Amino acid sequence: PGGFTPESARKDFPILHRTVNGHPLVWLDNAATTQKPRQVIEAIAGYYGTANSNIHRGAHTMAREATEMYEAGRAAVADFLGAPSPDSIVFVRGTTEAVNLVAQSWGRANLGPGDDILVPVLEHHSDIVPWQLIARETRARVVPVPLLADGRIDQDAYADLLSSRTRLVAISQASNVLGTVPPVREMTALAHRYRAKVLVDGAQAVAHRPVDVTDLDADFYAFSGHKLYAPTGIGALYVKPGVLADLRPWQGGGNMIDSVSFERTTFAPVPHLMEAGTGNIAGVAGLLAALKWFMSFDRDAVAAYEDELTAYAQQAMAMVPGLEILGSAPGRIAVLTFTVAGHDPAAVASWLDRDGIAIRAGHHCAQPALAHYGLESAARASFALYNTPEEVDELVASLLRLHESA
Ligand code: PMP
Repeated sequence: PGGFTPESARKDFPILHRTVNGHPLVWLDNAATTQKPRQVIEAIAGYYGTANSNIHRGAHTMAREATEMYEAGRAAVADFLGAPSPDSIVFVRGTTEAVNLVAQSWGRANLGPGDDILVPVLEHHSDIVPWQLIARETRARVVPVPLLADGRIDQDAYADLLSSRTRLVAISQASNVLGTVPPVREMTALAHRYRAKVLVDGAQAVAHRPVDVTDLDADFYAFSGHKLYAPTGIGALYVKPGVLADLRPWQGGGNMIDSVSFERTTFAPVPHLMEAGTGNIAGVAGLLAALKWFMSFDRDAVAAYEDELTAYAQQAMAMVPGLEILGSAPGRIAVLTFTVAGHDPAAVASWLDRDGIAIRAGHHCAQPALAHYGLESAARASFALYNTPEEVDELVASLLRLHESA
């Protein structure tokens, strides 16, 4: 559909031509981090090679150029997320920092004893622990929203748990373990009936589904660049315009002030208020290039291709005796977490690694989600737009050899 072929993306990734343990690399650890196209690598090298300067200060040409690039990056993120204005975009290190920022700068000012923060059981640790930390300080409660057997969020339980005490709901737009896509828009609308704010963790969703924060009506939306073909160390937090005034500074320093004296310090407006110190300017150059590269594809066609590949993988992996895929809810993103009876997930990963196939094994920073399935650890294959059916075949062939070796 839309004529998307993985080869049209694949040719841009130098790393996909390397070998691992004597085999061509098969990168199926995309939910951990995606590889980077040469356009991103060149943007970072080009920034340091020809344009390096600090921003927002210094009356010289290169400071001006760097500032323009940085703000163009902010506008590109706003555009990518369907945000109404670049001023609603705060640059952060990644999703983890974005959630901590909201917990510290919004939570500290807006949470109190007896307030509830609702968090589905399938959330990543970065969408659980920051809430636990701020809840401990403010004497609020973190309330888990249970899962159904198939891995979906129990919507009846969610509706029952919402109350006038609910201040915040924190939900992933797509799970990094089950790949499930909860009805975030409906859950947000329901939370808003109780005047609760909603933070959406978009870490896994952004590479796989078109995102529109305005349509979702999210109050906060977080993502990491590195899961979207951009470098590590850069990500963004969207804050709904009406909520910006509820944020308090969380880190102090340069960039975030208007004027400083020992008698009285005044502050810059958001988003700069939230960006103390020198940011990851090269990271923004890389993120800008990644967004430009990614947006050059028909995103519906990319999603359709990835869905087809995931369905193919699911079918092919089912042929491996003893292999079980976690979660049976329909409509998953390109994430397949699995166990192979009689084999420790870590051993499965190192077996595949000998064939040059990279997957992840472990708790996937989502221990409560795995515990829901009575597991401490699992293996996970996750796909990106550059993965091919041939790579899936290699994964399955290697897993079949593992089974035969036992
Ligand atoms: N949320 C989800 C759903 C994730 O998959 C991840 C990354 N594994 C994160 C949050 C954290 O992202 P980062 O480590 O880039 O901050």
